[in-house]
Amino acid sequence: MFISAIILAAGRSERMGFDKLLAKINGTPAFLYSIHTFERSGVNEIILVVPAEKISEYEKELSCRRFAVPVRTVAGADIRHRSALFGINASDSRCELLLIHDAARPFVTESMIQSVIASVKENTAAIPVVKLSDTVKFCENGYVSGTPDRDSLRAVQTPQGFLKKDYLDALEKVGERAEKFTDDASLFEAAGKKVVITDGDPRCFKLTSPQDMLLASMIAPNMGVDDMPRIGHGYDVHRFAEGRKLILCGKEIEYGEGLLGHSDADVAVHALMDAMLGAAALGDIGRHFPDNDPQYKGISSITLLKKVNALLRENGLALSNADITIIAERPKLKDHIEDMRGIIADAVEIDISRVSVKATTEEGLGIAGKGIAAHAVVLLESV
Ligand code: MG
Repeated sequence: MFISAIILAAGRSERMGFDKLLAKINGTPAFLYSIHTFERSGVNEIILVVPAEKISEYEKELSCRRFAVPVRTVAGADIRHRSALFGINASDSRCELLLIHDAARPFVTESMIQSVIASVKENTAAIPVVKLSDTVKFCENGYVSGTPDRDSLRAVQTPQGFLKKDYLDALEKVGERAEKFTDDASLFEAAGKKVVITDGDPRCFKLTSPQDMLLASMIAPNMGVDDMPRIGHGYDVHRFAEGRKLILCGKEIEYGEGLLGHSDADVAVHALMDAMLGAAALGDIGRHFPDNDPQYKGISSITLLKKVNALLRENGLALSNADITIIAERPKLKDHIEDMRGIIADAVEIDISRVSVKATTEEGLGIAGKGIAAHAVVLLESV
């Protein structure tokens, strides 16, 4: 059975005061959490319904990530059920089962989604619910007017699941009354159709007030979204050549010869850039700055490092620290180390305390006598 998840992100965040779904929770935009859970839960496609004026912002966040199933964005509407309908209209023609989810519930679980799917297959409509922990009162004009039996009350969550043809039938029957409904199951109830309940999860709360963002940041680390730090390693070597400047970590060092290369041959910065690109799984410097491209002839590697740093930012990552080891039999580098650290720290916009540059020899046993080699290890964090 082809299953389409419609994730509604077209609301106005009025109670929050800012766009809660593009806001980051521990470095990852809030709306991405539920997408990552749905892609692992047996759905065939995900349709994200967003405000028309923000489509490009959402698509930018999606474009730097890869998903196991197709994820598409469509423009929504001011009224919830119309947004849902726009999403449904954009679903694949093979779609038979719909899951409609509020993006403001980032921490939906795989088991909730799978329970709803299984129940829809048997019953045509299913919604996840949780028991209430607070007693609920009817209130009028400042007074309590009644107390419903808490045992028969449930708080309703999402995703709500339906057979697509039944949903469209119910919508036709109910007509304009659907505009008042605050969830999708109400449509089914009004059309006289049965809705079965499944187990919700207290973690699947709705982001409503600014305090909820704090709670979200505490729950997020356990929800399996990829915001873990990333480690990367880079290695490079250049041979000595006469008539060239020797530049290491952006510092020009007075020495009789330099290193051969298409750019300024700054072997240490090359290793650093490869470590950064490697940690982000974005290829290597040969791919980004080909050594047969005339625009890079003689270019300062620090200029390229700034480009790599900006590329990481575009991908939601930032350099946390770097440890560079330069392997050179000659010249002695110890008097230049502090300058090198400062130049690198400035280029990547982090504190100098997070940049380490070390120099060593190979005791005359390795390749370093004929040139200079460098290793770099970096840690990247989500931003
Ligand atoms: Mg190189």
